[in-house]
Amino acid sequence: MSDRNTGYDEWIDALAAGEGYALVCPEGHGSLPPRRVCPECGSSPLSEEPLPAEGTVETYTVVHVPSPRFSDDAPYVTAVARFGPVRLTGIVRGVGPDADDGDGDAIEVGTAVEAGVGERETDGGRIVVLRPVET
Ligand SMILES: [Zn+2]
Repeated sequence: MSDRNTGYDEWIDALAAGEGYALVCPEGHGSLPPRRVCPECGSSPLSEEPLPAEGTVETYTVVHVPSPRFSDDAPYVTAVARFGPVRLTGIVRGVGPDADDGDGDAIEVGTAVEAGVGERETDGGRIVVLRPVET
């Protein structure tokens, strides 16, 4: 059994290197590590499919009262974006409360974003960061 790329840390490493991927089951359901079987239908094996370069925001939330791990990051925007077969939840950077123009309306459902890795200001933990793509 190979442990390559089976953990979330390894997945974050891959995403940071621009090589993010989704786990896709034989039925075409997408998921993210750590998974060994499809969370939707229980199938295996799961193959690694490269994430599309761009995702689309499905929902977003401006957080003013954060969890303790994000206390120094607030206010911030979290969003869920669809990248091909999977959804990624991440902090939105480059728009919103921390953007130069302070315009929190710059992101909306349907905004194209790219995924990367950043650090929480609170504790330096690595997090998924979504940035709007210039179109
Ligand atoms: Zn499945």
